[in-house]
Amino acid sequence: MHAVVVGGGIVGLASAYSLRRHGVEVTVLEQGRIGHGSTPRAGGAIREQFSTDVSVALSRESVAVWRDFADRFDVDIDYRRNGYLFLARTEATAAAVRDVVAFLKDRGVPSRYVEGDDLGDHFPGLRTDQFTGGAYSPADGYADTERALQGYALAAAREGAAIHLGRRVTDVLRRDGRVIGVDTDDGTLEADVVVNAAGAWAARVGALAGVDLPIRPERRQLAVVEPDRAVIADAPFVAELDSGTFVRPAEKVAYVGGHFDGTDSGSESGTAEADPDAYDRGYDVPWAETALSRAQEVSAVFGPDSSITGGWAGLYAMTPDHHPIVEEVVPGFVVAAGFSGHGFMQAPATGQVVAELVADGAASTVDVSRLTLDRFERGVTLSETLYSA
Ligand SMILES: Cc1cc2nc3c(=O)[nH]c(=O)nc-3n(C[C@H](O)[C@H](O)[C@H](O)COP(=O)(O)OP(=O)(O)OC[C@H]3O[C@@H](n4cnc5c(N)ncnc54)[C@H](O)[C@@H]3O)c2cc1C
Repeated sequence: MHAVVVGGGIVGLASAYSLRRHGVEVTVLEQGRIGHGSTPRAGGAIREQFSTDVSVALSRESVAVWRDFADRFDVDIDYRRNGYLFLARTEATAAAVRDVVAFLKDRGVPSRYVEGDDLGDHFPGLRTDQFTGGAYSPADGYADTERALQGYALAAAREGAAIHLGRRVTDVLRRDGRVIGVDTDDGTLEADVVVNAAGAWAARVGALAGVDLPIRPERRQLAVVEPDRAVIADAPFVAELDSGTFVRPAEKVAYVGGHFDGTDSGSESGTAEADPDAYDRGYDVPWAETALSRAQEVSAVFGPDSSITGGWAGLYAMTPDHHPIVEEVVPGFVVAAGFSGHGFMQAPATGQVVAELVADGAASTVDVSRLTLDRFERGVTLSETLYSA
């Protein structure tokens, strides 16, 4: 059996690796180079704190891989299990957080509710007077996205996947309702299965196969901030639920982001969102200044001498319910896209599920029956309470 994987991001490469482990011949087609898409532009958060079973399961199965990544793939991804702290400003948000903590407790995720006054135990300089409470899990954390991408690229190649860079899929070929291959800007390839792992481009690739996917590119930014107190390298990822502000500690700096007031930029980026090839990969200075001032509201480590030292933008692949589509949507066409800001952390399990769908005809690692495309038509969409970064 031969599978063509469209997209050499973390989802496509994890899928290629797992497909090879299932004995499937694999060709990955990537229009750019490794890292052309969103993966290296992500914040790298890895968490099990979600409010739906399928997200918890995808993350949990992925964490099992992230944990052993260095041994398994011989690449150090700087995985720091420093925890993940969600912050609630209002009592209504805090009540919703408490419900999720109870849900997670039933599923064995070590998330706990933290009262406002105690939040400072979990993040240095936290302005406890600003928050009613929060949820903290010590099992969550973050990793280096570029190293992880590199690790999967090497592992997939080592397992025998052919990886073609600079080769764009221009059509998905069908016969009698079944996908039989792809056209590319460098010739045709036959395939028994085509995997759409094209991230923010997934709707375009879906359209080539005659499938309408509700996956929209949305530009999101990160600012690199040098705090005036460099004490946060071992601190948790922190995300504020009411405003969307998040802080991802790193060596000497922090990545700060958020989609404030429903937008993520000082300028309207409608055209960029319409065309994933044309979006601006730079960051907006006014947006970064807002991000820094929001971070200053979260923690005193971002004192008045903190400075913005850089930043970038990438694309979220958004679905209407912030959950991906993982399904063989027509015979021979498997979609693994629409991760809405969670695709880095959930890529290892997604790769396994893709391989199972292709090789076994059904997923066994995670029950992905809630991630079908028809949920949008049938009105049985999912809902995530812990939605921030
Ligand atoms: C600012 C920001 C912060 C984020 N933070 C986090 C986080 O903390 N944790 C987390 O889990 N996720 C985060 N994400 C989301 C994460 O980046 C994505 O969910 C993840 O990278 C998706 O991986 P992917 O492989 O699906 O997509 P990508 O990495 O975008 O790869 C898709 C690839 O498909 C290729 N492609 C597209 N069309 C074609 C074609 N026709 N032919 C050939 N190749 C094609 C593209 O060139 C691209 O390389 C963040 C994203 C952004 C932008």
